[in-house]
Amino acid sequence: METNSIAIDGPAGAGKSTLSRRVARRFGLIYVDTGALYRCVGLFALRNNVASRDEIGVARLLPDIRVEMKYDSEGIQRMLLCSEDVTEAIRLPEASVYASDVSAMPAVRDYLLSTQREMADKYDVIMDGRDIGTVILPSAGLKVFLTADPEIRARRRYLELLNRGIKTSFEDVFSEMISRDKNDSERAAAPLRVADDAIMLDTTALSFDDSFFALCELISGRFSL
Ligand code: C5P
Repeated sequence: METNSIAIDGPAGAGKSTLSRRVARRFGLIYVDTGALYRCVGLFALRNNVASRDEIGVARLLPDIRVEMKYDSEGIQRMLLCSEDVTEAIRLPEASVYASDVSAMPAVRDYLLSTQREMADKYDVIMDGRDIGTVILPSAGLKVFLTADPEIRARRRYLELLNRGIKTSFEDVFSEMISRDKNDSERAAAPLRVADDAIMLDTTALSFDDSFFALCELISGRFSL
């Protein structure tokens, strides 16, 4: 039920996924990373040589796309695109740009809406994205808008990519993030914005552990989990 759900929204690199994953383990929730869905659609367009902003071309691909979310024995979300495990492939910087562009298309958002709502109907979820509190789960029991200064977010994302063995520069990560934030906030379809009833959590000056404890406090104050 939606009211038992937690919606985490915010810009790229705010720490949504890392924090949500840990919170899910702590409270026995299912963590749903909705960005991964848009990344799958983006990757499919990329592989089919459709330009990331070609709305008609991407809409034409949708009937052929089969995106599935699976959870492994450790509760880690795996993404299947037409049966292929693309969990790692969707993290490449090119797929990020594609994800941001295709996510501005109403047809793509409509296509992914039911998958997200079905997860919240079946399980108690902590779901992260850009429009979870505003569009996908408007009655979520707790909505948090997680943010941090752009430099800090880019630094965290850069280190995360390095850890994954993906070669890039801080400057590239920073400019890609700024342009993604701009796309996500300025698009007409479900733009990134703070829901009226969301709580702002700015992690600029917080360590990962402190951010985690702050989030846990918000959850414990709202639910009896
Ligand atoms: O969260 P992540 O950075 O993986 O998301 C990739 C892209 O997918 C974002 O830049 C955003 O454009 C899009 N997205 C979205 N709505 C969501 C989740 C992600 O538009 N709920």
